[in-house]
Amino acid sequence: MNIFDSHHHIDITIEYKTPNIRSGYDLSDFLKQQDKKRLVETKLALGLHPWFVHEQDIPSLEKYQLEWSKSLPEADFIGEIGLDFSDKYKSSRQKQELVFEMLIRQTTSFHGGYILHLVKSENVAINILKKYGNEYYGFVHSFRGNSLQMQEFISLGFLISLGPNILLPMRDSVKQMIRDLPLDSLLIESDAHHAEEQSELLNQVARHVSSIKDIPVDDLVHAANDNHKRLVNLVA
Ligand SMILES: [Zn+2]
Repeated sequence: MNIFDSHHHIDITIEYKTPNIRSGYDLSDFLKQQDKKRLVETKLALGLHPWFVHEQDIPSLEKYQLEWSKSLPEADFIGEIGLDFSDKYKSSRQKQELVFEMLIRQTTSFHGGYILHLVKSENVAINILKKYGNEYYGFVHSFRGNSLQMQEFISLGFLISLGPNILLPMRDSVKQMIRDLPLDSLLIESDAHHAEEQSELLNQVARHVSSIKDIPVDDLVHAANDNHKRLVNLVA
């Protein structure tokens, strides 16, 4: 069974026929993909990745965001945006929070949904999101939070996307979250940058999730594909 990829970074090619969401890093990444012919099955996201935010100062980010916003109407999703408090990026934590909150505040009326990149920052993100409403859609990508956080995101309107980072050793709380994750709220992603690795990664993630949840892999893929279709119909 074909698994619909909810999050990848592979250069768009017209041959790609399975529903998929091409995530974004920054404006130039978006514009490069936007120029390419693509089938309706590929949804395109405009990102302002926390790793990008990490490298800029606030004045240039504010200027950048003006340009960035002009492309928003062309995007199906906003993302990746988010917060990354891993060791490598936590020094810019305050700046990341400022930019993330600004983006949420300024884009809540946007017709598309969000793709969130969150590392060790789930609770901070939940607090910011709650300030601006509870009718979001989109998903948290490569989610590795606990069950409580998972439920918070679902009640805010998000789906939960599981990716190759669950193939790494994980805390019991993450494993429990995967067991608790309702079938109608999960997505599967490759987070791949190269087409050659994509389907193998999707299959590995699906097999691993189905073994943790102790359900047939076909049931899992069926549910994830249904959720994917429901989500992209919102931006169609
Ligand atoms: Zn990604």
